[in-house]
Amino acid sequence: MAARFRYYNALLRMLKAECPAAFPVSVRRVKLAKLEGRCWKQGKKFHIQIDKSLDESRSMDVLIHEWAHARAWNHRLDEAKTDEAFNKLAHDAAWGVAYAEIYSHYEKQFTHTAVI
Ligand SMILES: [Zn+2]
Repeated sequence: MAARFRYYNALLRMLKAECPAAFPVSVRRVKLAKLEGRCWKQGKKFHIQIDKSLDESRSMDVLIHEWAHARAWNHRLDEAKTDEAFNKLAHDAAWGVAYAEIYSHYEKQFTHTAVI
């Protein structure tokens, strides 16, 4: 089982090293009933949860998506009381830019072929 989620764990190390957010980010794989992942800020820390029933590849997709929320966080998101309210605010242009930055780091580290 040593190799289980090896690439996922390497991605998490890369994100912490190369794509830090404004505050430390705690990431946990847990049982989530209706979501694949979620991100929220609590004080001076971000929390990300990823549904542990997802396979490694999908978990990496979701981790990149959620990490972009931590990196692009703005104060309006602190006011979102529900997942629905959060979703309306959270996938804006700033999130898209953060996602692109993170994805670029991911491609450099995890693929071996040039993409143009
Ligand atoms: Zn999202």
